[in-house]
Amino acid sequence: MSESGPRRMTRREAMELIGLSAACAAAIPRAGFAQTLPFPKGAIIRTLFKDYAPEELAGGATLFHEHMSLGPDFNDKFRAASAAVRAAQGLPALPPRAGGPPAAPPGADPMRDVALMAEELATAKRDGVACIVDGGHPDMGRDLSFVRQAAMKSGMPVVAGCGFYSQPFYPKEISTMTEGQIVEALVRQADEEPAGAFGEIGSWDEMTVDERKVFRAVGKAHTLTNLPIFTHTGIPGKAAIEQLDILEDAGVNPNRVAIGHLGNLVDPNVYVHKTICRRGAFVAFDRQGGNGDAQQVPLVMSLIEAGFADRLLFSSDASRGYSKTLTVFVPKLKAAGVTDDVLHRITVDNPRRFLAFVPKRPRKKS
Ligand SMILES: [Zn+2]
Repeated sequence: MSESGPRRMTRREAMELIGLSAACAAAIPRAGFAQTLPFPKGAIIRTLFKDYAPEELAGGATLFHEHMSLGPDFNDKFRAASAAVRAAQGLPALPPRAGGPPAAPPGADPMRDVALMAEELATAKRDGVACIVDGGHPDMGRDLSFVRQAAMKSGMPVVAGCGFYSQPFYPKEISTMTEGQIVEALVRQADEEPAGAFGEIGSWDEMTVDERKVFRAVGKAHTLTNLPIFTHTGIPGKAAIEQLDILEDAGVNPNRVAIGHLGNLVDPNVYVHKTICRRGAFVAFDRQGGNGDAQQVPLVMSLIEAGFADRLLFSSDASRGYSKTLTVFVPKLKAAGVTDDVLHRITVDNPRRFLAFVPKRPRKKS
């Protein structure tokens, strides 16, 4: 599915449309939004309790990659997987948490207490968040009924992700399942929850045989459902391009894909980031609002200056304190010179453009 019908306008056509000659347009800083077109007819954003017209969620930011529920052993498994990869490569061990999800501050864990989690969501709402995506699924130990209860109590529209996470987390059947069986399992999950995205779908180091199989299956499940896809990259940026290649080969339009955790890929030339943007996919800066911000602000600035603001997605991949993308990270970009208009479009418009899809299967009656 194209996000906007037949094709996007060229920059020249867009400028002519608003009465500017191409010569004059060259003097205008390229924010990268002139060619943004409306949502396709029939597009919806699928949350746990209802399908929204994308316009209904325009009153605030959408955080496209957070977590409201993960298994109690998730963080230990995550650290063990990262440490194993580094050891296998002969790299020194990382300090705790580096490159991974931000540490939860001390105190009671909202992931184990529905009332606390509902409070977290209510706070995010007050801070200007209109919708949150939960990027978990069963192999990450996500408890969907917990997420439902917190969404219900807080009134926050929550999009549920679904899928299979990455090799260290796969259920053991994955290695013996055929690609077709995985496609069926993915579509079943998507129907049952109901899910509004496939994600987070990941690889850890070099993509394994099973990870490639799962990515192909996710691509095929997308063609049956139209659900957008967001990914997890492990070692900074590794496999980012390969993930997009596999999905595209399976029939997915890149504009339905967000390649994740690319704030960890520190490259002043932003080559991989720009390649992904040029191919039409979204580049995700999704661990915002913490120590990693300093390295990410220049990356984001380079991409905005290169005209790719309409390809950026921000989120925090957090388990509490969800609004810090807006309250901590966005002010840093503002201080670096990004206008309110561009920030609004990145935080409010881009995630809705990413999440909105024309369903191919009816929503399950609840
Ligand atoms: Zn995540």
